[in-house]
Amino acid sequence: AVPLVVAVSTALAASAGLLIRDRNAFERARNVEAVVFDKTGTLTEGRFGVTDVVPFDASGEDELLRLAASVESPSEHPIALGMVQSAAGRGLALHTVRDFRAIPGKGVEGEISGRKVAVVGPGFLQEQGIAARDERVAAAESQGKTVVFLLVGDKPAGALALADIIRLESREAVGRLKALDIRCMMLTGDNRHVAAWVAAEIGLDEYFAGVLPHEKAEKIREVQQRYRVAMVGDGINDAPALVQADVGVAIGAGTDVAVESADIVLVRSDPRDVAAIVGLSKKTYAKML
Ligand code: ADP
Ligand code: MG
Repeated sequence: AVPLVVAVSTALAASAGLLIRDRNAFERARNVEAVVFDKTGTLTEGRFGVTDVVPFDASGEDELLRLAASVESPSEHPIALGMVQSAAGRGLALHTVRDFRAIPGKGVEGEISGRKVAVVGPGFLQEQGIAARDERVAAAESQGKTVVFLLVGDKPAGALALADIIRLESREAVGRLKALDIRCMMLTGDNRHVAAWVAAEIGLDEYFAGVLPHEKAEKIREVQQRYRVAMVGDGINDAPALVQADVGVAIGAGTDVAVESADIVLVRSDPRDVAAIVGLSKKTYAKML
């Protein structure tokens, strides 16, 4: 039988916007010492807009954005959605893409009019030993923007900077957790400039940048050497990390895969509700031991 306090608390949880999928994990939540947040779509809105288009050669901004948005168009990544929307905003018609391929945590590639075209993050360029330094790119990065590069053939043709918006609730979510003596961390595939900017903006204790999708669960395992960990995420990429964490929390508005991998779902998609999980768990189970 379910003890009465637990039953009462499940009702309380529901009214606090929490869907408890695993009761044991909800019990473990009272002992959580660190919360690791995914960045894009969790601490930020996950809606990107293109803010700068930087051609490296004589081609125009519109042509650069058109090519980038075209090769991104089959992708559902937030960067891709932002690119396609910004191209539409400028009235640019997209090219047809053949042989589209996503490179998880790195970018996309395809063929346009017989040419190989790719849009990739700075990590991919580094890996391939392709240099693409530019003052305007450095300036965009220092403003916390996400920068990706357009490759035509294997040559960098230009860079595009995109900006996401930090959720209004994120700073308060971190504040409430810190008040409970819980360390707040962030895990992201994005570069360290963006990560540092977001971390400073909302007061995180630690962050891990440039983490590839398949490395996220491993990172959680590392943090677990030091702390009991709750992980909060929204995407397909986050699923293994949610399973690895002592308590996996999915943003309700996230992907089905994330929700199915989570122990608890934030129905209101509000990161402040993570503190409510810990508070309710403490209240519920303190009485029983
Ligand atoms: P996050 O951990 O923030 O959710 P991802 O792991 O999905 O991010 O992506 C990490 C990085 O990989 C991005 O910042 C970008 O550099 C690159 N990337 C991933 N998908 C794409 C894409 N569709 N187009 C361009 N770059 C991408
Ligand atoms: Mg995400």
